[in-house]
Amino acid sequence: MQYITKHYSEAEPLSLVEKNILKEIEKHGMRPEQCIWGTSVCSDEVNNSLDGMSRHFAAPGPFRFGGISGIPFTGKTGFRAFASHIPDDGGAVIVFGPHIGISKNGTAGELMREGQAESSTCCGSLVAGLESVKAGNVLMISHDDYQQGQVNKLLIENYEDIKKADNQILKITDIAYHQIKRELTDIVSACIENLGNSPLLLIGGIVINTDADQEDFFEIRDISVFNS
Ligand SMILES: [Zn+2]
Repeated sequence: MQYITKHYSEAEPLSLVEKNILKEIEKHGMRPEQCIWGTSVCSDEVNNSLDGMSRHFAAPGPFRFGGISGIPFTGKTGFRAFASHIPDDGGAVIVFGPHIGISKNGTAGELMREGQAESSTCCGSLVAGLESVKAGNVLMISHDDYQQGQVNKLLIENYEDIKKADNQILKITDIAYHQIKRELTDIVSACIENLGNSPLLLIGGIVINTDADQEDFFEIRDISVFNS
């Protein structure tokens, strides 16, 4: 666990984070079984470790706002749909953030996936974006790779800061966190009337994926509530 907390000092195992999130929901006068939930995390299947939380909520699972990197590519239309699914007299919860692999040897940005003998990058989208920007690739947003184009754009815009960072993988994860938080908050603010009187809890943080035989972690960074 030290190999995780040396990078993310507030990170806790998902099983504990799950309990803390439930307490937070109840603290705001909401009952999880009357809430739907959503995520804005990267599409990478390793993030399905979060899905265990679904058993506490109404509906079959999370509404997925995130595309690759975790940016809420479903946009305002996705949020309006989500808001219209809230149970009568219920509420909504969204867990958001980028993810980062940390393998047992402590290397940030990679992990050992099930059934593989070699480690692979995680978040693959952010790491690929960083490599592309370092290689001097110009911005290209194409219809068949739209989401990665947006990720590359974000990294190009922040490249001066990235270059100065001691650990560029940790830096791009932070940059992604702020971008996801900003976009999600803007979407909620623009569509606040779609919530009616239903409360919405936003929980932001960093998903820390570990080697396949270890429990994943989450570091909560921000909790905000609307209509409470
Ligand atoms: Zn990813």
